[in-house]
Amino acid sequence: DSTVTGLANPYEDLEAQLRGYAIKPADPAYDEARAVYNGMIDRHPAVIVRCADAADVVACVRFARQHSLEVAVRGGGHNAGGLGVWDGALVIDLSLMRGTTVDPANHVVRVDGGCLWKDVDHATVPFGMAAPAGTVASTGVGGLALGGGVGHLTRRYGLTVDNLLSADVVLADGSLVTADTEHHPDLFWALRGGGGNFGVVTSFRFRCHDVGENGIVIAGPVFYDIADIGDVMRWYREFLPAQPRELNGWIGIARVPSIPLFPEEIHDRRVCMIIWSYTGPHADAERVLAPVRGFGNPLLVGLQNMPFTALQSLFDPLVPAGLQWYWKADFVTELSDEAIEIHRKYGEAIPTELSTMHMYPISGAAQEVPTGDTAFAYRGGGWAGVIGGIDPDPANAQLISDWAKVYWEELHPTSAGGAYINFIMDEGPERVRASYLENFERLARVKAQYDPDNVFHINQNIPPAAD
Ligand code: FAD
Repeated sequence: DSTVTGLANPYEDLEAQLRGYAIKPADPAYDEARAVYNGMIDRHPAVIVRCADAADVVACVRFARQHSLEVAVRGGGHNAGGLGVWDGALVIDLSLMRGTTVDPANHVVRVDGGCLWKDVDHATVPFGMAAPAGTVASTGVGGLALGGGVGHLTRRYGLTVDNLLSADVVLADGSLVTADTEHHPDLFWALRGGGGNFGVVTSFRFRCHDVGENGIVIAGPVFYDIADIGDVMRWYREFLPAQPRELNGWIGIARVPSIPLFPEEIHDRRVCMIIWSYTGPHADAERVLAPVRGFGNPLLVGLQNMPFTALQSLFDPLVPAGLQWYWKADFVTELSDEAIEIHRKYGEAIPTELSTMHMYPISGAAQEVPTGDTAFAYRGGGWAGVIGGIDPDPANAQLISDWAKVYWEELHPTSAGGAYINFIMDEGPERVRASYLENFERLARVKAQYDPDNVFHINQNIPPAAD
């Protein structure tokens, strides 16, 4: 129970301190502001504060603590479990904080805590460089970067956390610190994979890397009929690790979207797909890409030159905000024959046009980082796998959830144990622990140091270690 209820405007004191603004349940903007990306989530926070700067975030943390309000933090709002909004909570909404400062000479970009990845790419790609991100431009930097960050550049340049240089963080006691390898090194270690457990990041500084030639890369999907999945996956699992890291390819199953971009005769076909991207020198491109274009009997080879920003936003039109999403995930070290047969079975039975399974490589540069170097623990090669039941119609929520659940239950015994925390919904504390492998105990100790009262617990929670 909050001590702020019962007053005419319980948030008056807080609002007086803000450069941003608060949205309360009676406000016309409330319903739109409490909606997150996953249309399945329907939560009613006590108040949503659109923060303008770090001082606003500090005011929110102090106010929430003073009045015993739970705190949720919203970056891009993409989390499948809807962790950016919570019933009865004070939501620290960072969506006004989307400034960027690029330093091309030093290959660095500083971005505010509420940026989306499209904001970052917009700032960097005109200089021929990018910070390793995910694969959908509307995803928030905050959640993705703090959880790990897998995408097209993972094999070449590592995870997003491997490229984090520093972060400004509002801690549970309301102080603001900068964490990097020299300052608050334990906190900096924990931020690189530990999610939102350690504070509110108001600003990130990332290392950027050259992509393509002047930011132009060669990328796109290759589709195979689902009947060919066995040959395709067996070839892919051997082929990819032997290729230069400039080549990335994530694999999955899907139904071909019925959009003009694809020939009508393959619309809605159940397929095994590989989304390839080549970000190296163009002179080598044809040599590297020839086997990719030449393998098997593809239904479509969609590789083409495009700006890196276009690659990053390729899927955005297909997945607007507000769809129903149900996610299940696992890390995968070996893509075994047994697993491939399970992918075939559920690939043939994909229940709706947008439902899908993706496996993102965590190999190459990402695999070279020792498990203890960052909180993100899974460095065993292989993939971050995710099954997504997706559909616009709430009436199909059960259908897509059931497909994802039974598919995952059958597949799980073939996985590495644990999952990428950004690909799970609410699977309970044991799954969170399993995902951090031997890093969990250290994370719990850092949590005890920086957030002993577990103020930041609306996340894949790491409870503070007992004394
Ligand atoms: P939010 O829902 O706003 O927040 C998620 C969590 O992070 C919450 O616990 C929140 O409190 C915390 N948080 C957010 N910002 C901050 C901050 N500034 N400081 C402290 N805590 C914060 N992941 C990948 O790695 N690669 C992908 O290619 C990829 N593709 C995706 C595509 C889609 C369509 C979707 C929906 C998700 C994808 N993801 C991907 C998963 C994504 O990383 C997670 O959904 C992530 O949680 C999104 O971050 P957000 O800021 O948008 O989410």
